[in-house]
Amino acid sequence: MVLRADYKTDLWVDWCPGCGDFGILAAIQKALSELKPKPWQVAIVSGIGCSGKTPHFIYTNGIHTLHGRSIPFATGIKLSNPDLMVIIDGGDGDLLGIGAGHFVALGRRNLDITVIIHDNQVYGLTKGQASPTLQAGMKTKALPEPNIQDAINPIALALTSGYTFVARAFAMDIDHLEEVIKRAIKHKGATVIDVLQPCVTYNDIYTTQWYRKRIYHLEEEKGWNPIVEYPEERYEKLGNALSKAWEWGERIPVGVFYEDRTKDTITDRIAQRIPSYYNKPPSRQAIERYGKPLLDDAKFREIFASYLVKVEK
Ligand code: SF4
Repeated sequence: MVLRADYKTDLWVDWCPGCGDFGILAAIQKALSELKPKPWQVAIVSGIGCSGKTPHFIYTNGIHTLHGRSIPFATGIKLSNPDLMVIIDGGDGDLLGIGAGHFVALGRRNLDITVIIHDNQVYGLTKGQASPTLQAGMKTKALPEPNIQDAINPIALALTSGYTFVARAFAMDIDHLEEVIKRAIKHKGATVIDVLQPCVTYNDIYTTQWYRKRIYHLEEEKGWNPIVEYPEERYEKLGNALSKAWEWGERIPVGVFYEDRTKDTITDRIAQRIPSYYNKPPSRQAIERYGKPLLDDAKFREIFASYLVKVEK
């Protein structure tokens, strides 16, 4: 039997008590315990921000990389080893501010990666500045003046960038978030989940209570069907999803906005050009020069051993 505990590390989780990050971490661990990948079959990549520490707390491969650069790192990992389950876990500032160009590029490629956005509208780690998802005119507690810039809508941006699975969830509804994460991971293509989460320290507007009064589930809406089964349904379903993307205020939708099951991924397109790609991707090729290995196996083990947090559980 596989348990959530099997995907926990023994590191101290040092987020502020009450932070939505805890809900996201729990939902990822629960989703993994249901899907049951071996820890070495998963790579979780983060950038910089409070959420950046998430891979430290999950017992899988984890890469805590540079600000805004989790998507290029994850892209390299997935292209070199398409068998890996690759998850990007990052903040709204990281993925939609400095990393926005990479965010768009991942959608265009439809690479089979799951992006989980911690959307709390502030840069928590650096003391509460407005992030790209805070709406203009809002004044969260660390801002001396109301926010002067317009916000990015992560759902609309993902839909128009080409992501083939686009969803939103709430960090404090762990069971629903877990279901959305599992569905996103199983989807073949670029997936994004915009997770609304409270930052109890710096966002005094969008609190748990504020969200609980407004959130409703798309799957409970009569006639809601976001799944594209045939390419000719794309534009109609994209239009439906976009109209829901702009709904904010008294009612805020969560759930799956769009799921296109018909579009090929960039690795499929690569395999059409390079037929041996899936059987012999870069991760299964010898690193050599002029037919001679650059490093032997023992040397590799010696190098990587120094980076391992824990070799055995
Ligand atoms: Fe969470 Fe905000 Fe604290 Fe960061 S600053 S750990 S986002 S509550």
